[in-house]
Amino acid sequence: MTTHERPVRAIPTGNTVIHTGHDGQFRWDGPSDDLRFVQIAIAYGRDLSGLRCDPRDVAPAGITIPTQDGRVAVAKVARGLHPTDKPWLVDVASDRLGFHKTRRGGLAAGLRTVAIRDWHAGVEAKPAHPDDHHPLTNLNTTGQGIRSYFSCSCGWKPKRMPESGRMSHVPFMRHAAGFGIRRDNFADARYADGYPAAGMTWNEWYAANPDRDPFTNLTHDERFGSATT
Ligand SMILES: [Zn+2]
Repeated sequence: MTTHERPVRAIPTGNTVIHTGHDGQFRWDGPSDDLRFVQIAIAYGRDLSGLRCDPRDVAPAGITIPTQDGRVAVAKVARGLHPTDKPWLVDVASDRLGFHKTRRGGLAAGLRTVAIRDWHAGVEAKPAHPDDHHPLTNLNTTGQGIRSYFSCSCGWKPKRMPESGRMSHVPFMRHAAGFGIRRDNFADARYADGYPAAGMTWNEWYAANPDRDPFTNLTHDERFGSATT
């Protein structure tokens, strides 16, 4: 779909908007004279910078931005084929959106663009649901930190392995809080795919297999050897 086939909903000037091509919020100053150009009037202090551009590239700042979307693709481009220091190319529904310094930055721009286009098309994104970010229990094989860690059903993994059991929930809780999801109980965490206990909670596994390890299906003696014989 080309730019000019996309639908457009009007936003009153002065309202706070987000833009496909830039992080942060802006004051909407109306369409630019030439829609190919983006004009930003930098503000200092607490005022928002003013923005003029193609009205199809902005939406009200309050819209929900999806946490993942099949239309967004971020790929690393070979050296020499991208602007300096910006190797991550973002496509949205096969439209080439632009280059970014980091994968995370590219993904954010892609998801924001999807949300803005959907808003103009009258498709409202749903807010994140706790089921979209369910904790999964994994075996830590890095050799650093404690034996298990939580990843997320959305594909997120902690950057560093937890050093203690008391801290093991913290990275996941921060991740979920980023989507407005509060979680203080991990009893419903499920073992990730690839383990004997995959799909089960701790309670479910140990009720069915009281003496077996959920990651290996071995008994304590099989894992560590019997101390008494
Ligand atoms: Zn998640």
